[in-house]
Amino acid sequence: MKSRAGILVTGTEVLSGLIIDRNGPWLSERLREAGLDPAVIQIVGDRPGDLLGALRYMASEGYAVIVTSGGLGPTADDLTAEIVGRFAGREMVLDRELEEKIAAILQSITARWPGLDPAAIRVSNRKQAVIPRGATVLDPVGTAPGLVVQPLDGQGPTVVVLPGPPGELRPMWQMAMETDELAAALAGAPTYRRGIVRLFGLPESEIANTLRAAEAAGLELDQLEVTTCLRRGELEISTLYEPAAQPAYQALIDFIRERHGRQQFSEDGATIDDQVAALLADRTIAVAESSTGGLLAARLTDRPGSSAYFLGGVVAYSNEAKSSLAGVDAGLIARFGAVSEEVARALAHGVIERFAADVGVGITGIAGPGGGSDEKPVGLVCFTVAVRDGAEITRTVRLPGGRSDVRERATTVAFHLLRRVLTDEADAELPQAPTAADRVSG
Ligand code: ATP
Ligand code: MG
Repeated sequence: MKSRAGILVTGTEVLSGLIIDRNGPWLSERLREAGLDPAVIQIVGDRPGDLLGALRYMASEGYAVIVTSGGLGPTADDLTAEIVGRFAGREMVLDRELEEKIAAILQSITARWPGLDPAAIRVSNRKQAVIPRGATVLDPVGTAPGLVVQPLDGQGPTVVVLPGPPGELRPMWQMAMETDELAAALAGAPTYRRGIVRLFGLPESEIANTLRAAEAAGLELDQLEVTTCLRRGELEISTLYEPAAQPAYQALIDFIRERHGRQQFSEDGATIDDQVAALLADRTIAVAESSTGGLLAARLTDRPGSSAYFLGGVVAYSNEAKSSLAGVDAGLIARFGAVSEEVARALAHGVIERFAADVGVGITGIAGPGGGSDEKPVGLVCFTVAVRDGAEITRTVRLPGGRSDVRERATTVAFHLLRRVLTDEADAELPQAPTAADRVSG
């Protein structure tokens, strides 16, 4: 059986929701990769009693490893090191070598903030050099050192203590993985592989059916930990398995491909964004967006190297902007309405001309409450993806959800249409978008 692990996220700002926890889920995935079974992510405020209570609860559950996030700074509410010391039965001592290290780091900071009193800073940061006796120190990435602390009596979990800022926590987790203490706690843990299959245009209930059918067909699903989730309008099937279960995993993905080959677009972990970036290769693209307000441009450019193919975009809300910036004929808008396939098409071709692009995308739709009518309800979005003098696809879809869902899913639909067109499947039907995304026409 896998050893269990707990994650303890500290900070009143995280507990109150002022800051969204980015460390718990990240650590959970790392613990899983390391062969542990993350059992809980607990968030507590900066109260000593609550911290200690959470640590004791996790120990009572027999967790092999606990990872804490936050509360390692110089201020009085940063008390994780001290509480972990108490939990492990270790007294707190000043580590002189660490104090020097922190002082050196602070010197460069005080040089940038000449108004600060260096002596006062040094005193408050001496606090950060006071650690449980015998703990292994992880060198600071910011100013806060991390710790790996084992219980003095050898009974109980190994605790990895990391600072709260994600940019510090992540590299310091890698350092922790290299310590003898954590290596010992992980010894014998099985290694895992993760496989991800992605589908578009399939409701989650269909995948549940498929998994039941796979079981009925005699596939060994008990060797696989299968999770399905809906993300940005796509269905993701994520499977964790030991290397020995590779044949069982292969059988599962063959089974899924056979049933949902049309909807399945990835089984090697690649996202639709990866695929479109690769398909664009040496072609250039420009976009004209109305209802998505620039989100498609943001998503297309959210990767290194995108400047090689992304030329630019127009966010055109008013009819005037659609005409003057994207070259849409005003008469067309008057005749068919701003939200129409005709205007989507004109937007796509307009930016192909204006940007001298190889590929153009036009999106016009109704994303928010108040903008809809009986004929054109909220969630109705028209798309055109066109290749200059080449393949082209125009679609109208009805996307479910509120404004942000409609906008986000619309970008996903645009990516799938891009994939279609770029792989020369312009004649093929677009599969139904997930759940209530009814095709209206096209
Ligand atoms: P510092 O020396 O920066 O005070 P620290 O270890 O004491 O480090 P915290 O005081 O708990 O860390 O958090 C400092 C900042 O790091 C928070 O204000 C927040 O911006 C960020 N942070 C902390 N915890 C998290 C978290 N779980 N998810 C995302 N960001 C976090
Ligand atoms: Mg702090």
